[in-house]
Amino acid sequence: MSYVYYNNGNEYQTRTLMSETEGAILASAVSGAILSPLTYVGKPFTNQLKKEEPNNHLYKDCFQKALNISELDKKGVKIIPAQFLDAASNEYAKGTNACFIPNTKEVLINTDKISIAGFHELGHALNALKSKYGVKYLAKMRAPGYAIAGLMEYFAIFSRKKPKDAPRSITDIIEDNCGKIAFTAMLPIVAEEAIASIRGIKLARASGVAEPLIKNMKKLYAKALMTYGGRAILGGLAVYASRKVMDYFTRPRLVENK
Ligand SMILES: [Zn+2]
Repeated sequence: MSYVYYNNGNEYQTRTLMSETEGAILASAVSGAILSPLTYVGKPFTNQLKKEEPNNHLYKDCFQKALNISELDKKGVKIIPAQFLDAASNEYAKGTNACFIPNTKEVLINTDKISIAGFHELGHALNALKSKYGVKYLAKMRAPGYAIAGLMEYFAIFSRKKPKDAPRSITDIIEDNCGKIAFTAMLPIVAEEAIASIRGIKLARASGVAEPLIKNMKKLYAKALMTYGGRAILGGLAVYASRKVMDYFTRPRLVENK
């Protein structure tokens, strides 16, 4: 049922439940379409990582050495060779991904396959444990960043109960800017990823990784960063577009009285 809404001397007709439903369906379709290239954005990284596997021996010893050179071992950081973990099905054991866990100070990585990725994870460890100028805080903004970006997906699909020129509450302001907020919340994550890579490459050099291999690493790390950047941009755009669709379908409409 729709009803009449008055604001600023104008009369507005609120929208029907049918219209809200249509809006929600279209918004989710549009958002899905915008996010669909994410599968491809991650591909260059996954492909190169796989291609580097036969060269693992060229990085492996240097990677182990890097833990001492960075003095992260003194901070309690450990490299856990994920290939020996029970969970053989998980991505770390399989060697399709690696990670640094700040709480346990562990780098989880298949050292028989993707040591090349390990320097970047040590970069994360350096960011979390040995950094100046707020990089440490950047590292801490990871979880909240994802949470805020996720929350904005909900704000994007709320129905608009008031016309555009009605007095705005804090919720309205968040809804008006949800795409921007989602994108901005992801930026500290992208920045921290970039810094982890820069520090990882520096560490690889200090650990004796040969220059042509460093060049290779740089390419791989750039592709990884592209994945994060892509997520931030497409995520922000998807939220923005959902919001626009919902505005169109659910904003009360001005009734022309003349
Ligand atoms: Zn990373």
